[in-house]
Amino acid sequence: MKGLTKTRKTLFHNIKTIFSGRTLDEDTLEELEEILIMSDMGVDVVEKILEELKDKYHNKITDQEDPLLILRDIMVSHLSTSPLILDTSNAPLVVLLVGVNGSGKTTTAAKLAKIYMNYGKDVVLAAADTFRAAAIEQLKEWGNRLNATVIAHQKGSDPAAVVFDAISHAKAKSKDVIIIDTAGRLHTKSNLMDELKKIKRVVQREIEGAPQEILLVLDGTTGQNGIIQAKAFKEAIDITGVAITKLDGTAKGGIAFAINHELNIPIKLVGLGEKEDDLQIFDPVKYCNALLG
Ligand code: GDP
Repeated sequence: MKGLTKTRKTLFHNIKTIFSGRTLDEDTLEELEEILIMSDMGVDVVEKILEELKDKYHNKITDQEDPLLILRDIMVSHLSTSPLILDTSNAPLVVLLVGVNGSGKTTTAAKLAKIYMNYGKDVVLAAADTFRAAAIEQLKEWGNRLNATVIAHQKGSDPAAVVFDAISHAKAKSKDVIIIDTAGRLHTKSNLMDELKKIKRVVQREIEGAPQEILLVLDGTTGQNGIIQAKAFKEAIDITGVAITKLDGTAKGGIAFAINHELNIPIKLVGLGEKEDDLQIFDPVKYCNALLG
């Protein structure tokens, strides 16, 4: 996971030094605590991890065991994920992306299309952020680049109508996956949530069992602020998973723990750059290995 280099270089590399040849006394624990908190993991999670580390270290650790691996395993146990739905046997599979403007929804929609295409799926992108002309254009450009169909209407049109058209297209052309990009304007929050609920209702009405995924796209660089905004989406619509974006652009890559802990929603995807291949299905072991180096 090359995208986590910033966090590793800035913070986590010190952990290796802490553990090398030193006993896990109060001083080293304090140093460790500081690093983990600086990485934005969240105080609650850090406390729990340190408690478990102390228990394990004092009770069972032997010379053969690597304390860094013990820490890694404890960290992994504090992350929850659930597999991104790939099964399209009851096609079309509908993935709805929600989140505030600038969180990376449009980019994530495109990158996610690429993931599904890599699994041999035929994807339709629905430009249901009709609030911003730029979002529609951006998605069309991605569609061209990826060679994926984009269903779009004009700026200001009804997002639910775009979704209806995307579904009709997908059914007519036997497409496997529909990925829906949505608006994220927060200054008119209640309207946005109503709009998202309406889109969901249309999907439910047209395809039984859909949307199978409602993914909350969350900018990993916005820290606690992003988590508060995320809670508003969680209350309004049933989120099935989180996509954390821009983890490459932060030295505080521990945010996945805080998001997971505070929202209690599995993390399904991580964004590690702006290019089409820079979205990964979340793997807690790989993630923690990348942090710890
Ligand atoms: P939206 O308003 O939620 O649709 O957000 P966009 O998809 O337009 O993304 C906003 C900006 O964030 C764009 O410049 C993207 O290229 C950038 N972006 C999105 N995901 C990532 C990521 O994982 N890493 C980095 N470095 N930039 C990202």
